[in-house]
Amino acid sequence: MSGNYVPLYRKYRPQTLDKLVGQEHIKKTLTSAIELGKIAHAFLFTGPRGTGKTSTARILAKSLNCKNGPTIHPCGECESCRDITNSVPIDVIEIDAASNRKVEDTQSILEKIQYVPVNGRYKIYIIDEVHMLTNHAFNALLKTLEEPPENVIFILATTEVHKVLDTIKSRCQRFDFRRITTDDIVKHLRYISDEEKINISDDALFTIAKNSAGGMRDSISLLDQLSLLGVSKQVTSEDVNAVLGRISFDILNKLSSKIIDAKPNEAIEILNDIYNSGNEPLQILTNLSEYFKNLLIVKNCRKELLCELTGLNEPQIEELSKQKELLETHQIVFLLERITYYIKEVKMASNQHLWLEVGMIDLANMTENTT
Ligand SMILES: [Zn+2]
Repeated sequence: MSGNYVPLYRKYRPQTLDKLVGQEHIKKTLTSAIELGKIAHAFLFTGPRGTGKTSTARILAKSLNCKNGPTIHPCGECESCRDITNSVPIDVIEIDAASNRKVEDTQSILEKIQYVPVNGRYKIYIIDEVHMLTNHAFNALLKTLEEPPENVIFILATTEVHKVLDTIKSRCQRFDFRRITTDDIVKHLRYISDEEKINISDDALFTIAKNSAGGMRDSISLLDQLSLLGVSKQVTSEDVNAVLGRISFDILNKLSSKIIDAKPNEAIEILNDIYNSGNEPLQILTNLSEYFKNLLIVKNCRKELLCELTGLNEPQIEELSKQKELLETHQIVFLLERITYYIKEVKMASNQHLWLEVGMIDLANMTENTT
């Protein structure tokens, strides 16, 4: 890595609205607002982390202040555009409420709002995690929103919109960011991998996307972390699992078979292999519970939904489909309840390995007792 290494998520941060992944409804509304010149004084961006709120806020700021603007195609070259890309803008002030909570800080910032923009058309305040502001800071913000100075625009972003005062919400144009679909994330990761010449399988990208629960930033960061492995060989979903501290599907499949077949001796053998290769008892039980949860889904849900719901690929779903014939739904639920019980026990135990083995013997005798 050279000294000026740029993290992938920053390198591939979208710079125009049309490059934003997903969020079609938001792109459409913002595009017409910019084109028609109907710009609100305050925006509220809500939604889960990594869904594009901060990126969109910066793109919007750029679109409004570009010397060719307001435009949906900011040039990326004028002083204002370059400053925003390089995170040193004069007329765009970013406040992270999560780290800047002191009332006086926010108040002093809000006092400066009266100043006119230096270079740009607008003075733009981006307040991230706005729900973290103290009540005093909220009130200071509210006062400003009630009579917004000319040429000042607020973009408020939050992951927890229910914690934002109604009086603030009612003064903002609100945009709800949705989780990005697994497909959209995989496509974007494939694009980045090809650009960066990262040798990685589709399965691995799918596993990454699935793990990030609709968040693009976490997905790209994980890809970044895995990219070094991709120099000498193809990165597989096994590699992704290893980095995430997850036990591979195949091993869990073997272990679960012994539980279902009521073979405690063989279950213990596999269990100890897993344990000796460095997995913690809690991690093993959590992974096993995830496995049986997926089995429950395969037993009860429509076929076309299974990949999306479980995060598994077709051959893995095939394996679970064989196992689902061996158990009734109430037996799977019972196994899940017992695993949850042992997770609690292991958390409190001083000898975790002992409880792990006790739990395994119990589980491997379960199906005989519950038929
Ligand atoms: Zn520009």
